[in-house]
Amino acid sequence: MNDVKTEVSQGIIQGKPYNEIARGITERTGVAAGKAIRIARTETHRVTSAGRQISYDKTFNASESLGIEVQKVWIAIKDGRSKDSHHEKMDGKHPDEKGYYTLPSGVRTLGPGLSGDPNEDINCRCIEGIEITSF
Ligand SMILES: [Zn+2]
Repeated sequence: MNDVKTEVSQGIIQGKPYNEIARGITERTGVAAGKAIRIARTETHRVTSAGRQISYDKTFNASESLGIEVQKVWIAIKDGRSKDSHHEKMDGKHPDEKGYYTLPSGVRTLGPGLSGDPNEDINCRCIEGIEITSF
């Protein structure tokens, strides 16, 4: 698993596409190509989503000092190709006051790819955005 982490983190730092990260995982660990792609996608998504949480925290701090109200919003990819069509219902949803979204399954998460539940996180392509609610 450490080999996978190394491959994913180096790939993200170097801006590699999923398929190159996946190839690296296969070369390092012998994991089958299809599984390696799934791991690369899921892990890259999780890390970028976690990074967004940090930038949103800064946005909230800045908006407070500007007197603007902002809110996080879940954005589902609705192109018919999405393997996480079970997240389509999340599109446009806002988190609760503690920052958690409740998925249709009842699982709670701080954002796309961050639930820790493989059924929710694997193949998730959803993202989060910021909406200005008043200014
Ligand atoms: Zn999703």
